[in-house]
Amino acid sequence: MNSGDTTSPAERLRLIQEHFLAPGATGPRAERVARTTEPAAAMRIDVYDHMRNAVTETVALAKELCDEHEPYEPRPAKLEHLYEWLVAETPHLDEERRQARDAVIYRQGLEHAILIGEADIIRRHPCPSCVTWGLVWDRHTKSVVCWNRHCADDDGQATRWTLAQLAEDHIARKNRRAARAT
Ligand SMILES: [Zn+2]
Repeated sequence: MNSGDTTSPAERLRLIQEHFLAPGATGPRAERVARTTEPAAAMRIDVYDHMRNAVTETVALAKELCDEHEPYEPRPAKLEHLYEWLVAETPHLDEERRQARDAVIYRQGLEHAILIGEADIIRRHPCPSCVTWGLVWDRHTKSVVCWNRHCADDDGQATRWTLAQLAEDHIARKNRRAARAT
């Protein structure tokens, strides 16, 4: 079975920075000035928002999982080390919380992939319910759709998943495979 994650979430963060947020004429200040007239600039504002949300969520999760204390190291300046940092700061989690943490990282990776036009990554995951291949990303509803008609509900409505649900399923499958292998 394809693991679905040939590019890590951290690598995608780096790709976003390289392709959308490279320094120079496309720096943040220039973008904000040009925002109202330049669709491309407006798009890059969305990228900044996306990055900021990803960092905010990851830092909040680190603090939450550290329970009694602040993270030992401050959040890394280089964003490609963000997830490494989260994992290093939260070494003693029970199985359930570790899976939840890994699912957040994986879900952010899916969000990064979709942002950079690689929504096809969704196809590399089996449907969490019917376990067939053929999931697609619906950018209008921002949800994952399973087109297997046997998976649809009694009214014929296709099954839909959030990226969070898909990520949780992916991490759970991966852990079950790892448990079987040992
Ligand atoms: Zn399905």
